[in-house]
Amino acid sequence: MNTPTHFPYHILIPCAGFGSRMGVNTPKQFQLIHGKTVIQHTIEAFFVMPQITSIWVGLSPQTPDRLQAVGLSEFMAQSPRLNLVNTGGASRADTVLNTLQEMQSNGISANDWVLVHDAARPGIQSKQIEALIQAVEDSPGVCGGILAIPVADTMKIDTQDSTSRIAKTLSRKSLWQAQTPQMFRIGALQDALTKASQNGLEITDEASAFEYLGQKPLLVEGSSENFKITYPADLLYMRKILKNDSLRIGQGYDVHRLVVGRALILGGVHIPSEVGLLGHSDADALIHALIDSLLGALGLGDIGKHFPDTDPQYAGAMSSDLLLEVMQMVKKEGFGVINVDATIICQTPKLAQFIPLMTGHLSKLMQIDQARINIKAKTNEGLGYLGQAEAIEAQVVVLLGA
Ligand code: MG
Repeated sequence: MNTPTHFPYHILIPCAGFGSRMGVNTPKQFQLIHGKTVIQHTIEAFFVMPQITSIWVGLSPQTPDRLQAVGLSEFMAQSPRLNLVNTGGASRADTVLNTLQEMQSNGISANDWVLVHDAARPGIQSKQIEALIQAVEDSPGVCGGILAIPVADTMKIDTQDSTSRIAKTLSRKSLWQAQTPQMFRIGALQDALTKASQNGLEITDEASAFEYLGQKPLLVEGSSENFKITYPADLLYMRKILKNDSLRIGQGYDVHRLVVGRALILGGVHIPSEVGLLGHSDADALIHALIDSLLGALGLGDIGKHFPDTDPQYAGAMSSDLLLEVMQMVKKEGFGVINVDATIICQTPKLAQFIPLMTGHLSKLMQIDQARINIKAKTNEGLGYLGQAEAIEAQVVVLLGA
């Protein structure tokens, strides 16, 4: 019977690169997908796994400000397993070596397993990480293993002559594309990387340092969704893959009393009427319900929380201005409005002719096409306080997408 070899598992994410192939100023690991940075998506994949003891992110010394800017530092602060360290080196291998050193300075054993993972592979899923760990644990004596996928395309070698590139087909039968994580013991990885670098070997993944020493890392089949974001188009494709969390629905409701001597404003449009809505602000029930639906979709509470009616600065406030502020929150959270569907329940006056004006006004404020805003008005058939024209009510459903 095999003795169990379950040492703690640690994650090491080198995150100090600048991603020159993206052609943009922001390194790819700090690009936003659905309101979160690529590195945050990557970290979260490991976070849901209780068997991971600690996560180490090796940053370039210039990076912490950027983490602050994208709100990642708050996320990190809530996570005792997460360690941001300024261990970025000139190459990926240097960053990995520096981070391994830092981990051991913090009491982690050289015998523990470390899974090195690219910051720019946010498509990693816990089931693949588990498969890698299982495969390595099931193979006593193996130095480690990596995720990889069989090559799908026909592969060519460029056998360039003096004037042109000339294709020559390579058998793809035994060709695999290396991915990460790559899992090894901390001390062994340190030795392998150090020896490879002493011998001038260019190391683009951890496994190659072991292969150089004649060792045999396992190939464990991963998923094509665990690709590395390298070019701008990769970012667009990854957005689709990480889509699960990208839709949010919100619902809003508001009612205001109708009184003599107040203006009637609905959807930011002044509607001629002998009675108007009573309220602390302009009492625009439609915009209030819309704001509540947006805040609801974002999980940010309600209008009263953000614009309390006890606060004198909102006395007589234009609801349109509040909506502009809430749209900034939508944007800040990385979302856009897909569509709005609203119902106004109003016995009198008749609203039909004002609906296009409301739609136009809201589409300007929200900066979305009018076709995405649907406003319906109906009476309450004379029933109850709405039917007696004592009040006007609005109900809104909104869908946000990242
Ligand atoms: Mg209100």
